[in-house]
Amino acid sequence: MSTDVLEATVMLEALRVTELRLLLSQMGKSKSGLKKDLMKRVVDLLHNECNPELLSAVRELHKLRQVSKDARRSSKPSPVEIISMPACVSPENPQSPISVCTEPQMIKLPFYQTLDTILPPTPLVPMYEGAMQNSDFMFHLSVSQQAQIQNNASVECVFRICYSESIGVEEDQYPPNISVLVNHANCLIECTYSSNKLGTEPSRPCRPIDLTPNLYLTFTNRLSVLWGNFGKSYTVAVYLVRLVSSQDLLDQLRRTAVEQQELCRRRVSEKLRSDPENEISTTGLQVSLICPLAKMRMSVPCRAQGCAHLQCFDASFYLQMNERKPRWTCPVCHRYAPFDELLIDSLLCDVLESCGEDEEEIEYLSDSSWRATRHDKSDKNKERVQHQQIKHQVNCNPMGSVIVDLTQSSSDDEDFHKEETVSTHLEDKSVHFRKCGIVKTTKAKKSKNPGPKQLTKL
Ligand SMILES: [Zn+2]
Ligand SMILES: [Zn+2]
Repeated sequence: MSTDVLEATVMLEALRVTELRLLLSQMGKSKSGLKKDLMKRVVDLLHNECNPELLSAVRELHKLRQVSKDARRSSKPSPVEIISMPACVSPENPQSPISVCTEPQMIKLPFYQTLDTILPPTPLVPMYEGAMQNSDFMFHLSVSQQAQIQNNASVECVFRICYSESIGVEEDQYPPNISVLVNHANCLIECTYSSNKLGTEPSRPCRPIDLTPNLYLTFTNRLSVLWGNFGKSYTVAVYLVRLVSSQDLLDQLRRTAVEQQELCRRRVSEKLRSDPENEISTTGLQVSLICPLAKMRMSVPCRAQGCAHLQCFDASFYLQMNERKPRWTCPVCHRYAPFDELLIDSLLCDVLESCGEDEEEIEYLSDSSWRATRHDKSDKNKERVQHQQIKHQVNCNPMGSVIVDLTQSSSDDEDFHKEETVSTHLEDKSVHFRKCGIVKTTKAKKSKNPGPKQLTKL
């Protein structure tokens, strides 16, 4: 087996980002990050789990990669890469656990609900010498598509473009020097270039381009795509979409993605049990009620399915931020946290409802109760300090309360190693948040005063 692993590790070197991402997503792992991160994740998987399915998937992809390389070598110089993947390895084929398709699958965009396909994914084929290319497409709208556009202001006809050479899901990417015309009229494209260098692609996000303003509802439309050919192949498509707002998504999340209290409680007790240094039994598990993104008290606490931390962030704010700039990155652990994977923490919802407006942090205790540990610093009311002593029982707690002495804490050191500041932009304001899952602090000794306690790794 170990030579298999070694062989597969060597094969990985030949794979591309899209292929590494495909492998990781098939193995249920995060596929975000740079190539070296993806590589490390796959290598770790190979070494630790040594899954035969993963081994054969690596071999399969490597074989395909070799085939496409050979094809490229044998053909006369062409600016376009030849994709010589077999047309869809059938999923019932027991030899390949991964299905490989020639047609790229455009990533699902939560803010654009696809209603219909107007122009199915089609590759951009360079027709002229030199870099600048013009590719024309003709399409017309069906009666039902016309009606949907006329009757609903949030329905649009949009143009999307991504790399062709992908297997698995592909993010939108504009080619260099893109412009899009419908019936000879220019469409508005919001795009920024990171440099003036020839052949630079516009930076992501490359949003779907709205074709609606220049569209003929009943005549044939001519779509012209001007683009720079610098050796990459792209695929274009036109879809009928409904624009979805962050508020719509929040409502949807509230209807369909609330994690049951029982599951939330189980996660807390697992965290309490798995504490390696047994610190938590004396300090509890701290969870901030302040959203790490908005720096304000959360109203709809959520996290992604793949998040290993208890700390939540505010769903409403997170969705608004991604509406402005789709990053879909968890503000706590920085993993890919797409809309489909968000879950509302109903236990923390209850905590937020039942504790005072000025509470900033709570801790879960080993008897599955919780108590507030930190109040708004601006609050100078001494009476509030007393309030901290009140222990809040979590609803349906089957056990009686166990008094845990929370008054002892150790040194005066405060260390924030590994603390990281990440900036993000909301409108014209810059918002900073701290990667708080790994901040470890030890607060000053104050006997008989249950002030802030050790912040342990959540
Ligand atoms: Zn996370
Ligand atoms: Zn309280």
